[in-house]
Parts: sequence; structure tokens; C-alpha cells
Amino acid sequence: MATQDFTEISYTIDPQDHLLTVSSEWVDFALKNHGDGLTPEYVKGRSLWDFITDEPTRELYEAVLAHVRSGPTTDLVLRCDAPERRRLIEMTVTLLADGNVEFKTVLLASKPRIAQRLFDRDTPRTARHLMVCSWCDKVSVGVDKWFEVEAAMEYLHLTGEAELPIIEPVVCPECYARVMEIISDSVPLGS
Ligand SMILES: [Zn+2]
Repeated sequence: MATQDFTEISYTIDPQDHLLTVSSEWVDFALKNHGDGLTPEYVKGRSLWDFITDEPTRELYEAVLAHVRSGPTTDLVLRCDAPERRRLIEMTVTLLADGNVEFKTVLLASKPRIAQRLFDRDTPRTARHLMVCSWCDKVSVGVDKWFEVEAAMEYLHLTGEAELPIIEPVVCPECYARVMEIISDSVPLGS
């Protein structure tokens, strides 16, 4: 499933951030770090924040949501990689007439790559943590240094290792700045 491509992913949340509708592909997309066994039926009615558990990503989503709820539809481009595939997606967040918010994601680009064990749930892990940006999927290899996963594995001498560090989802400074800029650029309705 995770290596296949989707056409469009959508989900809606109510004003209390509970998931109302979820397309089945979303389970794969949004829950890539949350293990198997999740279905749209299981997800429905639960809080969006049950599935965006890392604080930096949550903060960014909260900022986007606050902005969208004030009126403007917001388009965000982000990466959504699978172990054997690099993907670029566009997520459009819209306030609906009934007060719910819709997230709609389309695939902009997708290409195969050599399987990246860092992103494979079955890879055994060490106690070490490696920060990975939830937005661009780049890996932190040092202070203010973010590499694509292939380069990061080389740089950190992890390529041949049986056990890999635990992924710690964060938002890199570049993605954080870019999303904040998008949010501040679009003018709220009525102003
Ligand atoms: Zn990033």
C-alpha cells in the first residue's frame, strides 16, 4: 500500500477538530508513522490531534487551521515520501460553508527510489533519535544542516547499519518559515 500512488486524499474535520470523513488513502498518508491496522472506520470521530502527535507539526497545523478558519483557503506544498517513493503533494485547506474544514491533497510528482530503510516501519531501531522534517522529509545531520535521506544516511555512516535511529518528527526551520510566510501572505476575508 505505502509504495503505491494515490490520486487524491481528502478528509474533513468539524469545528472541534474531530475527523468527519476520511478517504482510505489518508490512513496511509497521514499515519505513516503510526503503525498498521488503522482504517477509516477507526479514525472517524477521533481528534485530528490523535494523529499529529509531534509538537512542532501540530503547532504548524494549528496555525494553518486558525488561518483557514478566518476565511482564506490555503495551499501548501509538502513531501509525502514512502520508503520506495519520493512524492510531492499539494494540500489545499478550505473552510466549508457548514463550518467544517476540508483537507484535500493531490499528487504533484512521484518517482521511485531505492528503498529507504529509515522510513520502513519494520526496520529495527537503536535508542538514538534522528530528527526528520514532517514537511519536507529531510533529515537533520547537524546544526542547521538538513539532507535528503539518501545523503543523510551516507553522511551519518548509517547506510550499511542493520539498526537505524528512531525517527523524531519535527519541522525544519526552512519549512516552518515557508508555511508561516504562506499563512501571513493571504489576506483574511473581510479585511
Ligand atoms: Zn522541512
